[in-house]
Amino acid sequence: MKFNKHLESIKTYEAGKPIELVVREFGIEPKDIVKLASNENPYGCSQKVKDAVSHIVSNMALYPDDSMIKLKSALGSRFDVENGNIIIGSGSDQVIEFAIHAKTNASSKILMNSVTFAMYEIYAKHVGAEVIRTASQKHDLDEFYAAYVKHKPQMIFLCTPNNPTGDAIDASELFAFLEKIDSETLVVVDGAYMEYAILKDASKKVQPKELIEKFDNVLYLGTFSKAYGLGGMRVGYGISSEKIINELYKLRPPFNITTLSLEAATVALSDEEFVNKSIVSNFEEMKRYEEFANENKIDIIESYTNFVTLCLNEAQNSTHISNELLKQGMIVRNLSSYNLNAIRVTVGKKEQNDRFFELVSKLI
Ligand SMILES: *Cc1c(COP(=O)(O)O)cnc(C)c1O
Repeated sequence: MKFNKHLESIKTYEAGKPIELVVREFGIEPKDIVKLASNENPYGCSQKVKDAVSHIVSNMALYPDDSMIKLKSALGSRFDVENGNIIIGSGSDQVIEFAIHAKTNASSKILMNSVTFAMYEIYAKHVGAEVIRTASQKHDLDEFYAAYVKHKPQMIFLCTPNNPTGDAIDASELFAFLEKIDSETLVVVDGAYMEYAILKDASKKVQPKELIEKFDNVLYLGTFSKAYGLGGMRVGYGISSEKIINELYKLRPPFNITTLSLEAATVALSDEEFVNKSIVSNFEEMKRYEEFANENKIDIIESYTNFVTLCLNEAQNSTHISNELLKQGMIVRNLSSYNLNAIRVTVGKKEQNDRFFELVSKLI
């Protein structure tokens, strides 16, 4: 059977290996498995969320509120924007999908960083758009601008902080860059880890309100999967001008978020204390990764997120190391598919990190 030609060059997205597969493949007990592969919050989610969703379970027959009014209002007051500036996706992944489908087609170009979130390219390929990448590993906005002038892309992705490297763009540089981009080009600013960056360094803080007040061609993305500890609930959001949101809405399937997920995300937003506490612990534990890397002569990229990227030296092979770790129940992310001899490790709880240091010490 022949399929859409655009799909031929897509490599299926390889998510962090699920615990369930490690249980089956290696016969390891779930309790002995440590998953530091998908940048989930190791401290889980707010107790308030757990209490709230248990009430929802008694009313699952009805479709969810498709206006998503409670969650939109909660996001609206958090970010000081109108409900009409917000779209909710099944993860911010889905908003990326809407945006690419809304803006581009097989004759379009999409500009992104050399190393960045893999889903941008996958969705670009859905529509047959050409992907243009900058050269440097970190976002270099001069390179972005040169590529913008040269290729005239219809769409630009900026991921700050960036996954899988953890570095972040200075907000002032970002705004200066956006000033130079024409209003026909859709610029996506993916802030999946913004909560972390803000707590580490205020100069990285990008506020969606300021973005959309100044620019009507910018789409900001956020997610509940990382700092809010709701990866299993699949909720993300886009914030943009009403015009862009209305276009994205044309692609949204009805009821794309479950009642349970809507409630969880709404309540999660109300417990800032939980989120802040887990971010503080994250950066405390991250210091231990920096020390570990220094002691073992491994390069570590300065990270504004809840993960670290360890760039291995020639004597160490990221595929070998991540496979050996897997056999012992430790799941990390091998970055060989990004052409990097590096592993990305979600900063876990103290005892999870202890185990990582212990196992890796034996392998290098
Ligand atoms: C995790 C992540 C997302 C989206 O995650 P969802 O779970 O789909 O909300 C988006 N962008 C980046 C850079 C991410 O790391």
